[in-house]
Amino acid sequence: MSMPVATYGCTACDLSCWDASTWGYRYYLHGETKVRMRVAIGWCHACADLGVIEVLPDAAGELERQRKLEAYRAELSEVLAASPPRKRWWQFSANKSTRQMILEGEVESAAEALAEYRLAREALSSRVSRGRCLRCGSDDCLQLPPHEARYYDPEPRPEPIGFEHPGCGGQITIYCDGLRVSMRLTEKAYDLEGSLLDPV
Ligand SMILES: [Zn+2]
Ligand SMILES: [Zn+2]
Repeated sequence: MSMPVATYGCTACDLSCWDASTWGYRYYLHGETKVRMRVAIGWCHACADLGVIEVLPDAAGELERQRKLEAYRAELSEVLAASPPRKRWWQFSANKSTRQMILEGEVESAAEALAEYRLAREALSSRVSRGRCLRCGSDDCLQLPPHEARYYDPEPRPEPIGFEHPGCGGQITIYCDGLRVSMRLTEKAYDLEGSLLDPV
């Protein structure tokens, strides 16, 4: 299956990097449990390049997920309050509105995301090193400022994301030109300090 790709570039040089390298499943081995690792394209000072970096869970990220869940729950209870009372319990599912079903799905996946995030925070609570570059293992790397990949932008053009290309002075941009690629997705295990474990 192919998926749309965002390309990072620079306004002053030919730097280029696909977000497709973040695809796949990477996890920490926490005892017997697999805990999903979050990654993003970031800047590694050691590689002097863009690359896949580890994004560690933090309190702000947990709060964000909690707020999202609460917002969906509040919306769902509004929908429920506005819908006519059911007469018989077996009519319940037949009477569900599409809006209600969508919101129930959103509540469920937001709750799962929050639980997964909490698990990751707990697993990584004694973590010493900062998020690492997954190419070279250095933790001397930076997350890019928040930005969006608009995969279906009708008028695609490179958008600066508010980050200067270190050592170059150009602006890092993101660009989705409708390019799709399919690649074999990686599945890699790491220890809790973010070091790659040998494949079993
Ligand atoms: Zn540059
Ligand atoms: Zn690196």
